[in-house]
Amino acid sequence: MSNRDEHNDPNISMYEEFQLEIGENEFPKTGVSARSAKARLEAHMWTDANPMLNLSSFVTTFIEPELKELEGAHAHVNYVDHDMYPKTYDLETRMVNMIHQLWNGPADVEPYGAATVGSSEACMLAGLAHKWNWREARKAAGKDASKPNMVTGGNVQIVWKKFMKYFDVEAKIVPLEVGNYRLTAEHLDEYVDENTICVVAIAGQTFTGEDDEIQEIHDWLDAYEKKTGISIPLHIDGASGGFVNPFLYPDYEWDFRLPRVQSINASGHKFGLVNPGLGWVVFRDKKVFNEDLIFYVNYLGGESPTATLNFSRNAAPIIAQAYQFMRYGFEGYKRIMELTMENTVHLRDLLLESGYFEVMNKTQRIPVVALTLKDHVKNFNEFDVSAKVREKGWVLSAYTMPPKAETVVSLRIVVRAHLNKHVIGQLAEDIINACKYLEEHGGTATPPALHSHDKSSPKC
Ligand SMILES: *Cc1c(COP(=O)(O)O)cnc(C)c1O
Repeated sequence: MSNRDEHNDPNISMYEEFQLEIGENEFPKTGVSARSAKARLEAHMWTDANPMLNLSSFVTTFIEPELKELEGAHAHVNYVDHDMYPKTYDLETRMVNMIHQLWNGPADVEPYGAATVGSSEACMLAGLAHKWNWREARKAAGKDASKPNMVTGGNVQIVWKKFMKYFDVEAKIVPLEVGNYRLTAEHLDEYVDENTICVVAIAGQTFTGEDDEIQEIHDWLDAYEKKTGISIPLHIDGASGGFVNPFLYPDYEWDFRLPRVQSINASGHKFGLVNPGLGWVVFRDKKVFNEDLIFYVNYLGGESPTATLNFSRNAAPIIAQAYQFMRYGFEGYKRIMELTMENTVHLRDLLLESGYFEVMNKTQRIPVVALTLKDHVKNFNEFDVSAKVREKGWVLSAYTMPPKAETVVSLRIVVRAHLNKHVIGQLAEDIINACKYLEEHGGTATPPALHSHDKSSPKC
């Protein structure tokens, strides 16, 4: 293979372009033609997974051509420049209000929230708001404010462990149990105390798709306040559930209808149906987001507030979210979620009928199938199944559950809106055939070694 960096011959065939290198570690000395750069990069990435078959991920991979066009046309817009792009900025405010309403926020308050790069940034902002509020209240009461902690279940997504480490908040993580992979109120008394900045409960967890026992946790915190006088806010991590629950389960109270829920995050790029990266954090009331966290900057002439971890960012995902809200409306999202859920149940049923699997989730709220092999399966494991179906192009997550449920391995399939019944049928067949093959020939996979501080963290 030659590295013809200076090659810019417009007559060179694409076959030859594909042979050219993209450069290893050295910064390229000279440039190449646009055609050549595109061809080389495309060829470089051909062996990546097909995103449509990557069912280990919650992130949206299909968008309409009209939306692609719209996003492309605004890809250069720097969202943070509110002064130059006030109409773009205005979309965020409108959508924060819409989402606040979607999550049943009280009508008599001023909603507040932000578009972020993803739920991770949204979670960090919510965590910071609670840390600030807690510290302020402690100081005002003349109490020690040096030991903040946060209480979560062992099923939390990695972002919360990052938050606690990066922002110096003690992690109080309630371990899971075999057969119960959700945070409940059962052990909270061993974890919650006066230094707890908030409890995080999940709507649509990454491991099994289930919701934590949100109502029960809420009521426990109410009782705790009655007993001790300490009021602890609840944050809901609705990265996945935030754009599913409102459409499928309007009567289910997981959101701001519960008074203790002070903030909620969701990933616009998961069931919000936009491409990566977009997240949302919405506070019950503007007052929850501590004013001290807001900076006012002079940016190209105007003074504008900024209260996100990132500064410059692409406006396209925000515009895309506005498009999707308008394009589908409540009825459209509801229909899409219903269809996706039908396909999920169909897949789950086909796999259960095979006799190899049992289902891990007690409730089925978001379109996730979380399975584990039955006890009678001895000579292969979930990692083998995941590796075997990879031969057919499918990407499925297999992982060891977090403490103290490490004896359980899960095979997780995220059913997204672009999949149809036919594809689901093919997937089920490929998984069952993989099991049959493995039953006969035996599996060889050993679970990957886990890092001590990061036991099990599925992809999102
Ligand atoms: C995906 C996910 C996150 C992280 O969200 P990103 O949008 O990927 O940053 C956090 N919490 C839960 C429950 C998730 O599913």
